Amino acid sequence: MIAYIERFVYENDVESMTDPETIEQNGDVLPLHGNVEFAGKDFGGVQSSKPLAVIKPSTTDDVAKVIRRASRSPHLTVAARGNGHSVSGQAMAHRGLVVDMKSVEYGIHVDPTGKYADVSGGALWEDVLKRCVLGHGLAPRSWTDYLDLTVGGTLSNAGISGQAFVFGPQTENVTELEVVTGNGDVLVCSSNLNPELFFSVLGGLGQFGIITRARVLLQPAPDMVRWIRVVYSEFSEFTRDIEWLVTRREGESFDYVEGFVFVNSDDPVNGWPTVPLDSDHPFDPTHIPRPAGPVLYCLELALHYKNEDPLSAVDKRVERLVGGLKFVEELRFEVDVGYMDFLLRVKRAEQQAKANGIWDAPHPWLNMFVSKKDIANFDRVIFKNILKYGVGGPMLVYPLLRSKWDDRKSVVLPEGEIFYLVALLRFCFPYPKALSVEEMVAQNQEIVQNCTKNGFDFKLYLPHYSSKEGWKHHFGNQWTRFQERKASFDPMAILAPGQKIFQRNW
Ligand code: FAD
Repeated sequence: MIAYIERFVYENDVESMTDPETIEQNGDVLPLHGNVEFAGKDFGGVQSSKPLAVIKPSTTDDVAKVIRRASRSPHLTVAARGNGHSVSGQAMAHRGLVVDMKSVEYGIHVDPTGKYADVSGGALWEDVLKRCVLGHGLAPRSWTDYLDLTVGGTLSNAGISGQAFVFGPQTENVTELEVVTGNGDVLVCSSNLNPELFFSVLGGLGQFGIITRARVLLQPAPDMVRWIRVVYSEFSEFTRDIEWLVTRREGESFDYVEGFVFVNSDDPVNGWPTVPLDSDHPFDPTHIPRPAGPVLYCLELALHYKNEDPLSAVDKRVERLVGGLKFVEELRFEVDVGYMDFLLRVKRAEQQAKANGIWDAPHPWLNMFVSKKDIANFDRVIFKNILKYGVGGPMLVYPLLRSKWDDRKSVVLPEGEIFYLVALLRFCFPYPKALSVEEMVAQNQEIVQNCTKNGFDFKLYLPHYSSKEGWKHHFGNQWTRFQERKASFDPMAILAPGQKIFQRNW
C-alpha cells in the first residue's frame, strides 16, 4: 500500500494510516517496512509544531531511507523521536519528518558473557531493566530517575541519576553504537572504530546521527535496596556531607546519592510531606532546628544488597556510612524495597500525577549544571529567595564528578571537578495560588539571568536556545568542534531541527 502526504497537519492532530509501505511526496516514493502517522507535541507541553509526517520505521535501513530521501529535497528535516519526553520541542520537526524510534524492531539482546546488552535506540529503559533483571539477573549500571525514556533519547543528552558519581552518566556506559548519520550512512562506532562519530553522537543532541542500536554495559543486579532520606537545615552541612559521599573510593559509599530542596512548610506539593518514604513515618516538624530558613535539604541514599545478605550486615554498612553525617537525627526515613521497585519509583509518582490531571499539563522544566564554587550562592539567591515557595514539583540538587565524563563527548560542563545538577521539575497545579505556565517560564528566565548576572559558572542540561548566539555561548570553546562535527556527519543540517542549532541547508 502507498501512503501519500497530502497536507500539513495541525498540532495535536493524530491520524494513523494502516500498513502503508511507502511514503510518496512530489512523485518521489520512499519504500518502508513500517507505517506512517501524524503528530506534534511533547512532555513540556509549551512548544508545538506541525510535522509533515511521523514515520514508523521497522528497521535501521528504513531510518537510512528516510534521511536519504530528506537529503534529496531542498528543505526536509528529520527528527528522531524517542518517547517525546523533551520539554522544549527538541524532538520536533516543523514541516519535517519525525521518525518514531520506538517502532524500530531490534529489541534487547543480552550477550551470553553477561557483560553487555545490545538494545534498540528506541527501546525504553524500563523495558531494558525488565529484560535484563528478570531474564538474566543483570542490570545497566547508570540510570535516569524515570525510565519511560528511550535509550537514544537519553544518550543524546547524558542520562543522569544517583549512580552517575560512580559510573558517570549513561553516555559513559555504552561501548558501541550503530548510527545512521545525516549523510544517510549506517555506521557502527566505538572508541576505536569511527571514534569521532561515537564521541560526537553521545551527548550530541541528535545533531550527528540517529542511534539505532547501543551496547549497554551490565552488572549483576542486586535484589534489594535500602532507601534512605535524611534532612538538613543548613545548606553548607548538606553539601559537605553529600560531597564526602560522592568522593569516597569506589565500593566505599552508597550505590546511589541524590539530594533535593523542599519548602519548610506543610505544603503537600513542595513541603515536609514530600520527604517521608512511607505513610507509617510522617514528617515531624517539631524536630526542625531553629532558626531554619524558608527551605530545607534532603539527602537521598540507596544501598544495594542481595536477599542472602543478613540485614544486620546491611545495617552495619549503612551506619558506618551515615555515622559521621550531620543531618537532623530525628528526621531520618528509610525503607527496604525491591531493586526494580526502587528504579521504577517515579512511575508511581507518574500514576498519581495522571490521576490528578497534572501529568498531561505543561512542564516548563529548567535543568542546569552549576559549578561547586557557585552552589552556595545559588542556594542563597535562587533556592532561598526566588524559589522559596517551591516549583510545584521536585527541586533536585546533587553533585557530579567531571572526571567521570569523557570530554571527547559532546556534552559541555562547568569548570572544576565537582558540579551540581539542579533540576526544577515544575508541575502546573490547577489551584489559584499556583503560578501559571507563563509565570513559570518567566521565573526560569529570571533564574538564568540571575546566574549570569552573578557570574555563576553554569551550563544548561537538556539545553534549549532559540538563537545561534545562545548556542555559541553554551558550547563556549567547544563550539568550533561541534560545528566541525556537524559539517562531517550532517552537512545539510537535516537532523534534529527542534534543537534550533543549525538551519537546514542545501
Ligand atoms: P525525545 O524527547 O524523544 O528526544 C530528545 C532528543 O534526542 C531530540 O533532539 C531527538 O531528536 C533526539 N533523539 C531521540 N532519539 C534519538 C536517537 N535514537 N538517536 C539520536 N537522537 C535521538 N534526564 C536525565 O538525565 N535524568 C533523569 O533522571 C531524567 N528524568 C526525567 C523524568 C521525566 C518525567 C522526564 C519527562 C524527563 C526526564 N529526563 C531525565 C530528561 C530526558 O532524559 C530527556 O528529555 C530525554 O531526551 C527524553 O528521552 P526521549 O526518549 O523521550 O527523547
